[in-house]
Amino acid sequence: MDRASGKAKAESQGLDFDVVVVGAGFAGLATLHRLRDQMGYSVRVIEAGSAAGGTWYWNRYPGARCDVESLQYSMSISPEVDQEWNWTERFAAQPEILEYTQFLVDKMDFAKDIEFNTRVASAAFDESDNSWTVTTQGGDSLRCRWLVMAAGPLSTPNLPDFPGLDSFEGEVYHTGAWPKEEVSFKGKRVAQIGTGSSGVQIAQEIAKHATKHYVLQRTAHHIIPAANRPINPGEQEEVKKRYRELRDMWQATPGATSYQSLPSNPSIVPGDKSVLEVSPEERREIFDNAWNYGGYAFHRSFNDLLKSTEASTLANEYIAERILEIVSDPAAAEKLVPKQFYGTKRVILDTNYYSIFNQENVELIDVREDPIERITPAGIQTASGKLYEVDMIVCATGFDAMTGSLTRMDIHGRGGAVLRDVWKGGPESYLGIMVTGFPGMFIVGGPQSCSALANVIVANEQQAEWICDCIGYLDKNGYTSIEPTSKAQSDWVEHVNELADGTIYTKGPSWYSGANIEGKPRTFLLYVAGYPTYTKTCNDVAEKGYEGFELDRAKAVN
Ligand code: NAP
Repeated sequence: MDRASGKAKAESQGLDFDVVVVGAGFAGLATLHRLRDQMGYSVRVIEAGSAAGGTWYWNRYPGARCDVESLQYSMSISPEVDQEWNWTERFAAQPEILEYTQFLVDKMDFAKDIEFNTRVASAAFDESDNSWTVTTQGGDSLRCRWLVMAAGPLSTPNLPDFPGLDSFEGEVYHTGAWPKEEVSFKGKRVAQIGTGSSGVQIAQEIAKHATKHYVLQRTAHHIIPAANRPINPGEQEEVKKRYRELRDMWQATPGATSYQSLPSNPSIVPGDKSVLEVSPEERREIFDNAWNYGGYAFHRSFNDLLKSTEASTLANEYIAERILEIVSDPAAAEKLVPKQFYGTKRVILDTNYYSIFNQENVELIDVREDPIERITPAGIQTASGKLYEVDMIVCATGFDAMTGSLTRMDIHGRGGAVLRDVWKGGPESYLGIMVTGFPGMFIVGGPQSCSALANVIVANEQQAEWICDCIGYLDKNGYTSIEPTSKAQSDWVEHVNELADGTIYTKGPSWYSGANIEGKPRTFLLYVAGYPTYTKTCNDVAEKGYEGFELDRAKAVN
């Protein structure tokens, strides 16, 4: 089917487009490319931002940086872009990732099929002809056969309901919805709430400029050095020459990423040993090497840090020692030592976080010990009655992860059922890609997929490709609808939970299980068996004629 006939097909069926895609992050762009450029479909992408980039568009807070090596954090859709684009640092900063995205959009001529500055309000399935109607907040509607939700697993900011926030007389920001205009910390008293990945990154920028910087910490997260640096001479050229082979190699790992850009870089951790099987001296040496090398070398240093509580405890002990060495105030250092098992919350890469607590202008406030009670016009008041008077509050309080971008839209499936109600007791999907009762609606990076536990660009491309191939199969065979059987979906959810139960991930609260949002049902949101197993499972399902799905051609048009 060429592009024109794709459009003709939609029109002949009384539809506006074959496929509507919600979101122009990497997932949406991958879907657009596959469907439009490789399969000839008519596609409209709807994007709330004024440019592509998804989470990198909204998370433009100072200090925002990727924690996957930049040479591995790129789309594979254009060999030309692979060769022309140059990364400058081992871990790219947000502005560079956004520039890369724009470069890709221009090269691939994506913008003409993206409706920017447009937020989707609702999507409704029409059982009479198996079509979807997508309605924007501006009231425009589009009818399509297939709907792809690519709105992002970590894109809906979580702003806790702090009493009195509206009364605050200073500036308030959320890291996940940072303004485009420059925000200056200079000469200001700033309180930041939250010390996850976003909080740790922005803290290092606030501390440079604020006259007073209060870091309100509820939980000490695990933070390991990124050891960011300019890309080594020759490294980028070598990767460019071998992109195909290296991508295959990275994709054979559980996280679809390696801590090294090149296999020829020094391999400094064994990776395949248990931390429990080595002597204390060897353990120290391996941890030291990994810590100094930076990035996720520490995470990969042994094979059981994320599996056994004993192993995780040894990692904790090592990290505690390093914190106590860096932070000179013993009381602050003790508070910064993580108490939960290593890996229960997402491990963070930093550059200079712990040492900011040696600066006179920075003060660590333990809001587990003395919780935030309210926000007053002047600042933040804690339960003990202490008032931290500030000019600015920065909320680095995370996201309604994996489900927020879907449940904030009104998505009506079969019989008018609303997705957010269907998921009230916890989200359920099959493969993280489709939901029973919502035929023809695909999700990239949905709950129970492996997306946010892997190199998310790679995971997005894999899911987008699977979804597009599925659409191609359905059209070729005259089907107008597909949805998972209830049994396939409940079996998948059970499988995902069983896998998670065998790991450290479930041994403490985190956004992985929805525990960061008050009232959100606790259910494990990610597939933990790794990218290769996930991909193989998805491919097996497709090869078996979409096993676990019901395909319908009863209402086929033309
Ligand atoms: P997060 O990890 O969920 O951290 C949110 C922080 O806010 C936590 O410290 C949390 O404390 C605190 N918090 C939430 N509600 C609070 C309340 N009512 N009172 C006091 N503290 C409160 O969110 P995030 O830092 O935005 O990161 C989310 C995910 O996005 C990361 O895990 C990562 O996957 C991704 N991310 C990646 C990068 C990168 O690539 N480098 C950068 C940013 C984000 P508790 O821990 O006690 O709940």
